[in-house]
Amino acid sequence: MSHIQIAIDGPSGSGKSSLSRRVAAKMGIVYVDTGALYRTIGYYARGCGISLAEIDKVVGVLDDIHIEVKFENGGQSVYLNGENLGDKIRENEISMYASAVAKVPAVRAFLLDVQKDIANTNSVIMDGRDIGTVILPNADVKIFMSASIEARARRRCAELEEKGMPASYEEILSDIIARDKQDSEREIAPAVAAPDAIHFDNSERGFEESLEALIKLIEDTLASKNISL
Ligand code: C5P
Repeated sequence: MSHIQIAIDGPSGSGKSSLSRRVAAKMGIVYVDTGALYRTIGYYARGCGISLAEIDKVVGVLDDIHIEVKFENGGQSVYLNGENLGDKIRENEISMYASAVAKVPAVRAFLLDVQKDIANTNSVIMDGRDIGTVILPNADVKIFMSASIEARARRRCAELEEKGMPASYEEILSDIIARDKQDSEREIAPAVAAPDAIHFDNSERGFEESLEALIKLIEDTLASKNISL
């Protein structure tokens, strides 16, 4: 049986990860958070003392990075040279590092096979910025998720607070604006919707309502293509 591929793209705070995680649990498929991979490289770059201004230097340390993705305890863990980084990659400063390394072509090439291999061996719902355009161009379902910038900043704030790494609303808002610009305007794999993606805006919906609407959208799309789990 071939594997199902659901691609979810969209900017930070649009609800991609929390919704995708629940969809995966409901459908019995694997949730893959590809942002965690860029965060891991960003984390390593910062640890090497590479500044955001000279981020291209990350190319020189890629050979020292071994990344392994494991699906354990119902979630995804990313191991960097044998260490499970856990929430260390969630820190707000790492968001900007992730976005900076993500525009370096050698970094994207480095992470390509990791992502494709996971999708070749599992039925997945994978979220990121270039999933429907680059990583899984033939995905069975492609969704581009969005929400207003204020709703996204509020969600990121709550998420960081919950993880014990609070940052101010103003700081998060300005980082989100900078990251959106950098991600969508970069030359390689810009964060844009695939031409055949279904647009899903959840600014006005609460979490459970969004989840229900998303599951229906996915089920209807799969059914229209005669695809069953
Ligand atoms: O999804 P998350 O906010 O954790 O991603 C962090 C950064 O990683 C994004 O701002 C983006 O620059 C980069 N990214 C990417 N392509 C992906 C996933 C994330 O460029 N598929």
